[in-house]
Amino acid sequence: MSRGDAQPPTLGIDVGGTKTQGIVLDGDARVIADRRGRTETGPSGVIATALAVARDCLRLAGVGTAELGSVGVGIPGRVDHRTGVVCTAVNLGIGRLELGSVLSAELGVPVYVDNDVKATALGAADYLRAGEADLTYLNLGTGVASATLIGGRLVRGTDNLAGEIGHVPVDPTAGRCACGQQGCIEVLAGGGQIANRLAAGDSGLTLSTLLAAAEAGDQAATDEALRIATGIATAVQLVVLAHGSTRVALGGGVVQTAPGLVDLTRRLLDERARQSEFLASLDLAGRISLVPAEHPLAAIGAALVGRAGVADLRWERPVRMEPASRERQS
Ligand SMILES: [Zn+2]
Repeated sequence: MSRGDAQPPTLGIDVGGTKTQGIVLDGDARVIADRRGRTETGPSGVIATALAVARDCLRLAGVGTAELGSVGVGIPGRVDHRTGVVCTAVNLGIGRLELGSVLSAELGVPVYVDNDVKATALGAADYLRAGEADLTYLNLGTGVASATLIGGRLVRGTDNLAGEIGHVPVDPTAGRCACGQQGCIEVLAGGGQIANRLAAGDSGLTLSTLLAAAEAGDQAATDEALRIATGIATAVQLVVLAHGSTRVALGGGVVQTAPGLVDLTRRLLDERARQSEFLASLDLAGRISLVPAEHPLAAIGAALVGRAGVADLRWERPVRMEPASRERQS
């Protein structure tokens, strides 16, 4: 297909624990295909899923692999973005996988791989039209992690370690974390730990019923909601104080299942501000926004990873969703 574009189309794939989503971005930064499939785990399952979603997207977009400029993939775990090697993606059953080179050999185009939270930060910056901003994306999923853009550029640190803020211990009474420490932010606000607490509580509460139960006066639900929101508020305060982020985008299953937690987090931050002139001057609550679950932020971010290659990963210009990109899902 010839659109007279300066840039060839790019395919972005977000590999998640349960679903894998792909989008095709054309040279005018329009999303012209948007497909998803269930993630098969294990190295061969992840590869098969990514290829199936990729081919589905390309068919829907009417783009052949020969026309494709590059592919970007976002995936959980420790990722070396220079080599495309993924390590210790526990939920996907991956110990070590040369994902970039395997997919590149199959598709015949360069494939760039990055950690999913880092890729999603680019997608979030795009969604908020804040590509040049100092922005942090805070992912509240099974675990808690962040990715920060400073002037639109990703902060990586040695071994891409920057952003593992879920393992900052903040409450020694909160219980043990999977990492071995006591009371990490992830213990308070990580979806895995929340689910364990709710199941152990024998109250029949779930994350989606938690806030309604708290509203109705259930003390256990109120305590749990406050515990989670305290973890989120502390994470927000941490990234703003560490990086000076103007905006903090919140995403991930925890806040998408219970969006009211974002309002509660704002209330806690405002309460902290009432105790501290310093915090009041920062307006932490005003910096937060919730990114919508239905917008393919992570897959768009992955496409931006593909477009940038290993060079200077940054957001370029606004992505627009084409209505026809969402053909009926099977
Ligand atoms: Zn930890």
